[in-house]
Amino acid sequence: MSDQLLLTGNVQEAAKKAIQWLINRRPIKELRDWGLAFSLWPPHFTTSCCGTEFGAFAAGRFDSERFGVLPFSSARQTNLLVIEGTLTRKMARAAKIVYDQMPEPKFVIAMGACSLEGGIFWNSYNTVLPSEIGIPVDIYTPGCPTRPEALARAIIQLQKRIMGDKSKNGEDKIKPMESYETKKEKSTKKEEKAVIS
Ligand code: SF4
Repeated sequence: MSDQLLLTGNVQEAAKKAIQWLINRRPIKELRDWGLAFSLWPPHFTTSCCGTEFGAFAAGRFDSERFGVLPFSSARQTNLLVIEGTLTRKMARAAKIVYDQMPEPKFVIAMGACSLEGGIFWNSYNTVLPSEIGIPVDIYTPGCPTRPEALARAIIQLQKRIMGDKSKNGEDKIKPMESYETKKEKSTKKEEKAVIS
């Protein structure tokens, strides 16, 4: 009877669960996380001038491949989306398409003041933030532009998080969006006052 039950059960589902259980056990989990942390492949996707800094990070001096970061042409083979600066409404649609095409597990780094809080375009009608279009950001890097060293630091921080090292970096988060929204509110109030006066 038990043999019959085994044969008629959903073997594929059971196998999936067994594999999932296995890869979530040490040391396989640690090996998987280590491999993932040093196989961060971002798609070629430049939205603004921070892209040149990303290019510098990938070039000889900083050599992104030393960090396991290999820019790749196909979104379906990548797992790290780097939002390189300003995200206009037009490019936001493309960013969302690229993000949705990327397989799980995937990570996002927002680079530059523009992707943090709008930067110099903070009160523009035409810029959006990654979180406003449903792209969850793991690491924010400040600066205008963000230097390649800062991007390297963000990559190292992300790698530590993937490998479960939260001892130092858990507190090291840059608050996303709040200042942008506060600015936006203040700006709206100022505009209202200006109209009234
Ligand atoms: S943060 Fe500065 S350098 Fe980067 S996209 Fe915005 S304006 Fe350009």
